[in-house]
This record gives sequence, structure tokens and C-alpha cells, in this order.
Amino acid sequence: MKFRVELDPLIPYKPPRMSLEAAAEHIGPDGSPNAEGYVKLTSNELSFGPLPEAEAAMREALPRLNRYPDRHASSLREAIAEANPGTGSKNILIGNGSSEVLLNLLQLIKRPGEVLLPWPSFGLYAAIATILGFRTRKIPLTEEHQIKPETLLSAVGPATRAIILCNPNNPTGTYLTLSEVRAFAEALPENMLLILDEAYQEFVSDAAYNGSHNLALEKSNVAVTRTFSKAHGLAGLRAGYGLAPERIADYAERVRFPFSVNLMAQVAATASMEAREKIRARAAFIIRERDRIQEAFASAGLPYIPSQGNFILVNAGPNIFEKTGVLVREGEALSYPGWSRVTIGNSKENDRIIGALS
Ligand SMILES: *Cc1c(COP(=O)(O)O)cnc(C)c1O
Repeated sequence: MKFRVELDPLIPYKPPRMSLEAAAEHIGPDGSPNAEGYVKLTSNELSFGPLPEAEAAMREALPRLNRYPDRHASSLREAIAEANPGTGSKNILIGNGSSEVLLNLLQLIKRPGEVLLPWPSFGLYAAIATILGFRTRKIPLTEEHQIKPETLLSAVGPATRAIILCNPNNPTGTYLTLSEVRAFAEALPENMLLILDEAYQEFVSDAAYNGSHNLALEKSNVAVTRTFSKAHGLAGLRAGYGLAPERIADYAERVRFPFSVNLMAQVAATASMEAREKIRARAAFIIRERDRIQEAFASAGLPYIPSQGNFILVNAGPNIFEKTGVLVREGEALSYPGWSRVTIGNSKENDRIIGALS
């Protein structure tokens, strides 16, 4: 049989070095260090486990696993709406990770056509767009590794259907201010969908970025995606969400797989969102540690890109870090050969990152 030719260039996800055989000797399959004590700072996960509130909610729900979960995930939607003033349940999208929310959003759009992506950015965007039959056009970042809104706007053409802005951007950690994003959204024709991927929103230290979800309430063609995988420390559970105008949320629910957010994910994500003051405190810790590590890179004379995420892209190969038992994401896989993306961990892990520099 014949497969769709556009799938040929899609190469299966290449895991970070840690899960390759050599590193697997040093670290368990769940990322926990073994006796030799390697630490996994490859994938922008949080080094802390779920909040106790989330664990308690899962324990409480365990005996109910014989039942299907709430198909609509009403409690989760309400908790998310509550955390984003001005939104209601009808503005909330949910998914099996924000990956599914991104998929559902792109599934709404007329084909054929093209999706514009600032590049380098998150690899999954191009994969989803290709799988759905869109062409992708990658618009290079500036020499300062920034997304330049004017360049993006001038690339918009008659075939453009959607633009995905990763803000802050993975892997660079650079970001656009809220007023820059707003100006961009306003300049964009209303028949194009603007997806703002805010997987790292909790780590933005610029207070003026708060309230970015309002863009999705003001504009009929803007959707924001967020995740429980990063600041909430629930990557293994697979839960993500989106904030969008009611019409987009309504259509996204039409294409979503019926029970894509499982019972454990629903109850844990709800509890974690309700305890979001604690999540905020954890993010504040990461922000302080980010400053500390960036200062250490500067003192060591290592060029790095100032970051608004829970990771830093630094112009140094992974070997430097491996000598103190820190596994990082090698830049080759991120279109930054010779660089490494270092996830900010807990105090001890971060001490090791800094220890590797001397
Ligand atoms: C980690 C990450 C996500 C999260 O994906 P999930 O499916 O929610 O785990 C989304 N976007 C970007 C840019 C990321 O780096």
C-alpha cells in the first residue's frame, strides 16, 4: 500500500541522550538518578513532584477507576476559568497535554494551506502541521534569537492559515512582551488563527506579561495554550489546556477524542490549579535560580541567551555538564549545534550545573 508522501520526512522523536544506552546506565527509566547520581535536566520538567494536594486527589480517585471520567471535565474547566479572570468554562479547551490542544486547534482549520512558524522553536508544531496535511514555513529568529513580529507579518500570504508563537520560545527562552504580542495580533488578518503557546508562562518574570489570556477574549482568532507539564510538575500525567473565544472552544471540543483527559489527570490538574499559590512560589524559586545560573555562565565566560523559561540555552556542549553528572539536552536536536539546553532544577542540581563550570 501507499502512504502519504508528506509523512516521509517525519522522523520519530529522538530522545535526549539520557535515554540512550550509555546514559541509561546512570539513570532510571523514570529519570531518577541511580547510585552514581546522574540528574536529568534534559526536558524542562520540574524537579519537584506533584503538589500534595494533587497526590491526595489522585489517591481519593483511585477506587473510581472502573468508571469513565467526566467526559466534559467540568471541574477542571471551572478551576482553569477561575484562575483566568474574565474567562468562563466555555472559553476553556482541555487535552491530553497541551500537545492535544495544539492538535485540536490545527484540526479546525481549512486545508490546504500553510502554517507559519518562527524557527527554531518547538519541534512538535511542524510535525502536527505536516500530519494534518499543512505546509509549514519556518521564519528564522533574529541574530539575537528573538522572534521579530514584522518579519512574521511580512511572511503572511494568501495561503497562510495559522501562526504558532511559542512565548517564551522553546528552546531559546526569548519572549515577546504582551504589548508586542497584542500589536502583532491586531495586525494579523482575522481569517488566520494565532496560537500562542504559553507552556512556560508561569516562569515569565515580567509582571506586564500577566493577563495574556485576555487576548483570547478580545480577538476572535487568538487561542492561548498552556500545560500542567511544566510549572505544575505533572508531565507524566498528560494534561494541558487552552483559552480561546467560545466559538473556537466549541469547535475544538467537536474534534477532541471523547475521554482524552483521564480521571487521574482531571482530579490532579484540578487540585493543582486550585492550589496555584504554591505553584507560583515554585515558579518564583525557579526564576531566582535562573538568575543564579545565568550569572554563573556569565562569570565563566559562556555565552547564553537570557531566558524567561525554566531552561537556559548556553553555548557549550553537553560534555561539560556530564562531568558533574548533569544530563542536558544537546543543541543538535534543537537546531543549535554546539549548544546545550539546561533545565533549571532544584538547589542541589543547580549547584552541580554551576560546579561543572569551574
Ligand atoms: C513542554 C512543552 C509543551 C508541553 O507539552 P505537553 O503536551 O503539555 O506536555 C508545549 N509546548 C512547548 C513549547 C513545550 O516546550
